Amino acid sequence: MPKRDDILTELGLVPTWRLRGPAGAGTTDGPEPAARPDRDARSAERSNAARPHAEAAVPDEEADSRRAQRIATLEWRDFAADVDACTACGLARSRKKSVPGVGDVRAEWLFVGEAPGSEEDAKGEPFVGQAGRLLDSMLAALAMKRGENVYIANVLKCRPPGNRAPEPVEIDACRHYLDRQIALIRPKVIVALGKSAATTLLGVDATIASLRGRVHRYRDVPLVVTYHPAYLLRNLPDKAKAWEDLLFARRTLKGAADPAAGGA
Ligand code: URA
Repeated sequence: MPKRDDILTELGLVPTWRLRGPAGAGTTDGPEPAARPDRDARSAERSNAARPHAEAAVPDEEADSRRAQRIATLEWRDFAADVDACTACGLARSRKKSVPGVGDVRAEWLFVGEAPGSEEDAKGEPFVGQAGRLLDSMLAALAMKRGENVYIANVLKCRPPGNRAPEPVEIDACRHYLDRQIALIRPKVIVALGKSAATTLLGVDATIASLRGRVHRYRDVPLVVTYHPAYLLRNLPDKAKAWEDLLFARRTLKGAADPAAGGA
C-alpha cells in the first residue's frame, strides 16, 4: 500500500496540495480556467466527433412521466438492468456497455462525473481511465477507496460518441437514474466533478470557479463542487484547488454527520 506522501508526490501535489487557508465561503480562486474545463479536457477527441444523434424527442409527456415515476421507485436489484435496457435517448445505439455506477450503496460520499469515456464504455464502470486513476489517487490521499464508503456515478450512463459533451435532451432523459441513485444511497455529501455534474444537479448555469468553496444543496444533501479530474490532468496547478475542495467536502460531511461540530 503506497504511503500518502508517495501518492501526493506521484500526483505532483507536493508541496502544492496543502491547505493554505479556510476553503470556506467566498473563496477567490483567481482567474477562471479556460471555459468549460471538463469539456476542454475531453476536447481533443470531441473536436473530431460527429455531432450528436440524440433521438429527436417525441413529445409524449404522459409516457415520460410514467417512465420517471417508474425509475423513481426502482430498487438496486433492478437498477443496472433497467439502465442497460434504456433507449430513452440515442446513446444506447452507439455505446458498448452502459455504466450505471459503482460503489458502496450505503456510502456517505457520492462523486458524480459527466459521462463514460471509451475505457468506461468498454468496461461498464465509471472512471477507470486516466481521469479515474487520478480520482482514485485523490481518494487515496484522503485515505479513501473506491467502493468503501464511496459511490461513483455519472450524469449520463452511456458514452456520448467521440466523448462529445452531453446534449440537454440526453441529460433530461438520464437524470432520473441519477436522482434515483441519490435517493437510494442517501449520501452525506455529494462531490460534483466538473461543470456537467454541478449544473445538472444544481439546476444553474455557472462556472466551476463561482460554485467552488460553498456548500450547495441537492434536495437536502450537501453538495460541493470541484474540477473534473480530466481537466486537472491538463491543468496541474488547479490540483491544489481540487485538494482544498475535497478537504472542504470532508469538513462538510463531518459537519452534516455531527451538526454540533459546526459544519464546514
Ligand atoms: N469522465 C467522466 O465524467 N466519467 C467517467 O466515468 C470517466 C471520465
